[in-house]
Amino acid sequence: MLRVDDARARILAALTALPPRPVALTEAVGAVLAESLRAPEALPPFDNSAVDGYAVRVGCVRGASAAAPVTLRVVGEVPAGRLAEGLVLAPGTAVRVMTGAPVPPGAEAVVMREDTDERGEAVGVREPAEAGENIRRAGEDVRVGDEVLGAGAVLKPSAVALLAALGVGRVAVHRRPRVALVATGDELVWPDERPSPGQIRASSALALEALVRAAGGEPAQLGIVRDDRAALEAALTRAAEADLILTTGGVSVGDHDLVRQVLEAQGAIAFWRIDMQPGKPLAFGHWAHTPLIGLPGNPVSSLVGFELFARPAIRRLAGHTDLIRPPMQARLAADHEKRAPRRQFLRATVRWSETGLQATLSARQGSHQLTGLAEGNALVVLPEGPGQWAAGDAVEVMLLEELEAYGRRDPDAE
Ligand code: AMP
Ligand code: MG
Repeated sequence: MLRVDDARARILAALTALPPRPVALTEAVGAVLAESLRAPEALPPFDNSAVDGYAVRVGCVRGASAAAPVTLRVVGEVPAGRLAEGLVLAPGTAVRVMTGAPVPPGAEAVVMREDTDERGEAVGVREPAEAGENIRRAGEDVRVGDEVLGAGAVLKPSAVALLAALGVGRVAVHRRPRVALVATGDELVWPDERPSPGQIRASSALALEALVRAAGGEPAQLGIVRDDRAALEAALTRAAEADLILTTGGVSVGDHDLVRQVLEAQGAIAFWRIDMQPGKPLAFGHWAHTPLIGLPGNPVSSLVGFELFARPAIRRLAGHTDLIRPPMQARLAADHEKRAPRRQFLRATVRWSETGLQATLSARQGSHQLTGLAEGNALVVLPEGPGQWAAGDAVEVMLLEELEAYGRRDPDAE
């Protein structure tokens, strides 16, 4: 049986980033840049004031203090968005400027409004100023021609802000992977249908759709396919138009486990069993040259399998280079004994605490028991072979969600 890391490595080795295409910046959020971008402009674009105050010559306010303020004549005012047209700072004068306003020629510093006494036509300055004080220089953030983002950069909101500031409206990003979802099983009905006796709802279908989207893919729901060879082959052929096919069910050793059988007969199958729990029956192969991950049928197994194999696969197709959630450490909240030989991914809740992360295992760990996964936010990863852990022992955890500081008091609220 394949180890988890080897299985993932084999899947990832079979995939490459999808070709780039130009998109509007507004559609690029979350995508991966396929080109290196150089700054067409400088940031800030012009020298401007960092505060509301008075633009001055440094020599005019040398030695100024509260006891001996320097009085300057106010010769004009520049709000943000205007030019200091015609204003030149002659000795003995000041120009009133707002935050973001271009500083007038001749100005060497801006004195904060708080350090002045405003008297209409004149201003009393109570502090000396150093050259350049409170002036944001053109190009001090980005110079024209600087590489601002490299190929492979993720267009997170702050990166979008940077490009927006530079006036970059279109970027070449790796295409969003289209992921076809196929649920298999005679016993399944769609989640909004009423099951007949012996039937169940295809619970993982909608979850996988959401997970695909969260991973940066574009899901295409192809519905439920009966355990029938011809129907399955037809569905897979439709699904092969996508960049990746995800099936659920039918990859084990049952007589009706047709996904594995049709892949073996007419597609290509690289492996179908992994040394892990839950989710041992998990296949990787191709159907008509489209990569296919055959997730297990049990809903917890399929969602765990998605996290371990499909999410990194989608990220690789989307051009990401960081593919897996980083392993982290947490302390177990209670003693735990592991008897199973396979590597385990136990459903857990990880909480932030002053002393570090703490992991509480869910009470229900069956691969059919969705509550353990739904109530938690993490998987505790226990290595192959039996083992004993005491409360407080460190274990590897895989966070599936962003961790808020649960229970941490907001210092501002007191
Ligand atoms: P299979 O691998 O096809 O034998 O399925 C294993 C178990 O998972 C069986 O109990 C199936 O009824 C169940 N199952 C299969 N597909 C789904 C699904 N999409 N949602 C929920 N349960 C499923
Ligand atoms: Mg089945």
